[in-house]
Amino acid sequence: MSRFLSRKFETLKPYTPGEQPKATGRLIKLNTNENPYVPAPAVSKLINSHEINDLKLYSDPDASILTAAVADYYGIRREQVMAGNGSDEILAFIFMAFQGRSGKIYYPQISYSFYPVYCDIFKAEGVEVPLADDFSVRPQDYFGADGTIVITNPNAPTGMALSSAQIEEILIHNRENLVVIDEAYVDFGAESVVSFIERYDNLMVVQTLSKSRSLAGARVGIAMGNEKLIADMNRIKFSFNPYNLNRLSILAGAEAMKDRRYFEETRRKIMDTREEFVKDMESLGFRILPSKANFVFASSHAISGEEYFDRLRKYNIIVRHFKDKKICNYVRITIGTPEEMNVLVQATRKILG
Ligand code: PMP
Repeated sequence: MSRFLSRKFETLKPYTPGEQPKATGRLIKLNTNENPYVPAPAVSKLINSHEINDLKLYSDPDASILTAAVADYYGIRREQVMAGNGSDEILAFIFMAFQGRSGKIYYPQISYSFYPVYCDIFKAEGVEVPLADDFSVRPQDYFGADGTIVITNPNAPTGMALSSAQIEEILIHNRENLVVIDEAYVDFGAESVVSFIERYDNLMVVQTLSKSRSLAGARVGIAMGNEKLIADMNRIKFSFNPYNLNRLSILAGAEAMKDRRYFEETRRKIMDTREEFVKDMESLGFRILPSKANFVFASSHAISGEEYFDRLRKYNIIVRHFKDKKICNYVRITIGTPEEMNVLVQATRKILG
């Protein structure tokens, strides 16, 4: 720590991103829930196009062609959409500026581990709500909350989802609280609540193009909500970083949203691969939580989470293991291609002897 850092930040415990190895040559990378398939064909054309010349100009602060493509996809208005530099930035704006009158933000105790980090840096009081014993989020635990509620649906790292009816119950019981639904993984089998934004002015839906649209490296996140909420989000963004998305990412994001066929095809492949993979792992004695995401949360009586992680690494397969005691017996495995999952299953067979 240098002697120049403000005291306020001395105790900050930053988020630890999943490992991003520099050389991925021989590695099967199933640790940070990226998409194994390349971005939509129109995206790859951008890199050689005249758009490169336009990089000398600032990007559109409204990311209009992207927000228009998202609005078109969901049948909502452009004023109900805002774009961020990854949904991490969108979430940062939310934790910064929407702490409710109480300054409290409620979220599941086991969820995206960035939420407590944002509470810390933005001085919100994080209220961690325990999950049920089966790892599900109980809607009734959020009735009568006194602050903003953030729920990941499907949840990470469990992959388990609430139905849209259950989310609606949370909205109905929290008319005075902002309810944020982080739908990073929603396209892999869960129900989106984007259509609820017309009816509930206390709902903000957060999505990302990092997972189901194969654009993790482009950093494109989306917030959707009632016009007033989105105007507030823009108030924050324009006070912080007006050109938050670069030109190439805006274009890539718009193309990825428009290519519905490719999107349907790749997400369907991932869901099918997941179902096959779950069967294979269950036949090897693994317990897999019911997943609606592009990853599964797996544990086995035969091997600890940490040992399984280490042993897979020796086979050049990288998954995610968490140190937190409540979940340290599990590993989170991203769904890759069928070939990658087969290599993992074969390695697991050998590991278990
Ligand atoms: N929300 C959840 C639940 C996530 O797991 C992630 C990815 N780590 C994000 C948001 C952020 O995704 P991105 O910034 O790539 O849009």
